[in-house]
Amino acid sequence: MTGRAVVVATGNAGKLRELQALLGNDWELVAQGELGIEPVAETGTTFRENALLKARHAAAISGLPAIADDSGLEVDALHGEPGVYSARYAGAEADDAANNAKLLAEMAGIPAIKRTARFRCCMVFVESADAEPLVAAASWDGQIATEPRGAGGFGYDPLFIDPESGRHSAELSAADKNARSHRGQAARKLRDLLLRQA
Ligand code: IMP
Repeated sequence: MTGRAVVVATGNAGKLRELQALLGNDWELVAQGELGIEPVAETGTTFRENALLKARHAAAISGLPAIADDSGLEVDALHGEPGVYSARYAGAEADDAANNAKLLAEMAGIPAIKRTARFRCCMVFVESADAEPLVAAASWDGQIATEPRGAGGFGYDPLFIDPESGRHSAELSAADKNARSHRGQAARKLRDLLLRQA
């Protein structure tokens, strides 16, 4: 059986595979890049706004239903920064290493008890560009370490301590991270919303 086609507004093949495994055969996910759709500028000021921008853009161009997510890290001692600017914290062309270095520098001297943070994710589904969205938001609370550890994951994973395991997110297996993470939780919530309206 082939599922219903839905375009996913991501260039990340790993995200697409994870989501496909979670949603099962009812949906056939297609990356927007495969349809020649360029990413839209993420001009929103919230994760929800950016996720909706991406999903509506992909749905408008493809004429297909669309799924998009937006995520980032909020650090309490930095008043919620880097937030929606997580990918570009150290500048427009910044890579993960530069972003992590900036985060460590900004947090120099802040004691462990004040290093609380959370990853947030908002994942949305739209049937068409102007349809009411299904919205699933989730977060993963933890702490910012004083030095990086682990080789897995991406982004701020080497600096994010998962309180349940005491490990840095980059030390978790992909399955363990997915079971706990903001994105894993949001994807499961979105799956439940889709099942409920089917
Ligand atoms: P996006 O939602 O893929 O655009 O992610 C935005 C940015 O947030 C990424 O580039 C990372 O810097 C950060 N981020 C989001 N989710 C994670 C995660 O699971 N681990 C580490 N960093 C993350």
